[in-house]
Amino acid sequence: MRQTALHTALDAEMEKILGCIHCGLCLPACPTYQHLGNENDSPRGRIYLMRAVAEGRIKPDSASFSRHIDLCLGCRACETACPAGVRYGLLLETARETILEQKVQRGSTFQKTLLKLALRHVFPYPKRLKLVFALSRLMRDNFLVRFAFRKGIVRAISPRADFALSLLMTTAPDGGTEKWSEENPLPTPHSPLPTPRAVSVFTGCVMEGLFKHANDATKRVLAVNDCQLSNVETQVCCGALHAHAGDLETARKLARHNIDAFEQFLTADRSATIIINAAGCGALLKEYGELLKDDPHYAERAKRFSESVRDVTEFLAWGKIRQGAEINRRVTYDAPCHLYHAQRVMTAPQQVLAAIPGLEYKQLEGMHDCCGGAGIYNLSEPEMSESLLADKIGKAKATEAEVLVTANPGCHMQLGAGARMFKADCQVKHIVELLDESYHKAGFYSTQNQSSSVQQK
Ligand code: SF4
Ligand code: SF4
Repeated sequence: MRQTALHTALDAEMEKILGCIHCGLCLPACPTYQHLGNENDSPRGRIYLMRAVAEGRIKPDSASFSRHIDLCLGCRACETACPAGVRYGLLLETARETILEQKVQRGSTFQKTLLKLALRHVFPYPKRLKLVFALSRLMRDNFLVRFAFRKGIVRAISPRADFALSLLMTTAPDGGTEKWSEENPLPTPHSPLPTPRAVSVFTGCVMEGLFKHANDATKRVLAVNDCQLSNVETQVCCGALHAHAGDLETARKLARHNIDAFEQFLTADRSATIIINAAGCGALLKEYGELLKDDPHYAERAKRFSESVRDVTEFLAWGKIRQGAEINRRVTYDAPCHLYHAQRVMTAPQQVLAAIPGLEYKQLEGMHDCCGGAGIYNLSEPEMSESLLADKIGKAKATEAEVLVTANPGCHMQLGAGARMFKADCQVKHIVELLDESYHKAGFYSTQNQSSSVQQK
């Protein structure tokens, strides 16, 4: 059989593929296997298929190979379950990269072409991204669009369009609490902090474009917890969406750009930390070292960069989290796969919730199971995604929680749209928004003469 780029790329990963001892312990953890019961839609089956391609036993352009790879959520629950330490996420990205490069997905749909255009020609360019998100916010906040959405007019025309709009609507700042806006910028310390920790928030593109209120809440919460914040203006999209779609070349370009952008901040202070509040981005930022390990100019710097990245909950749980005022609400937490399985940040989010007085925490059954969001999986594989979402929202309803918190924009949007679709009476929020609200109630922030400040406790 002719040697193709796909063979070569998977050949290079053969050591990782051979790490699979076929024990099957990952099967119960895999949502697609659980739903379809097909070995080829399990981690073990997909690794077997990759091996068969690498060894030339099946054709790389076989439609079934790309179909089984397409159906994978990339949730990495199999990695947590695997006793042999198989790094499935890296294998999946390699398989997707080579499939993408060879255009073996012969029936490339309009949706996939659009995705490729967006990934290659919009996300890497901050100005174009800003424009796209500005237009998205205009649509989200438009009275007529909201009216049509609320009255179910969009749903009557097209349920899929309604779901897509629902994902967007979920990104709006919560109407029930004070809306933090540009007039309420990052509070500056009221008096010098005793031992400030040097941090910089990786603001991300979707987070900054659609969840700026959560980014601002993150910065305020860090300031209250004795952090000295630096802004790194030249940062760009982290490249996570590209890596998950198999476009590793663009992901590497974006990684190099971000490493350059944060270089000065990281070299000024050995303990400087890059804070991220989006699990999917955090997982990739922590893997820049792996992504650029063969780049002689960036390998070392990428490693240093990755070592300095912490999820905001992980960072806060390291120290003593400052307590704010009581919030008397019932809350549950859904763990983003890329926080729980990829970053192995498993208990820090609950520690953050425990630091908020008055909260009644309810454990969500299967909290680390994928919600079906998985990047753009909810748009590309709507059936499987909806089935996982129905399951998740059913379990969230059983907790009778008023607030469902998470820590990733994709999950946030998916859960918000799911709450609407399956009529769950709960708000969806980023976890730091609750801590921020508690600090706000405690009077840690004040707004005087158009400027905000943090009151020292
Ligand atoms: S990443 Fe998730 S969906 Fe894909 S094989 Fe692993 S457990 Fe299954
Ligand atoms: S748990 Fe790990 S070693 Fe066992 S079958 Fe799954 S991937 Fe292979």
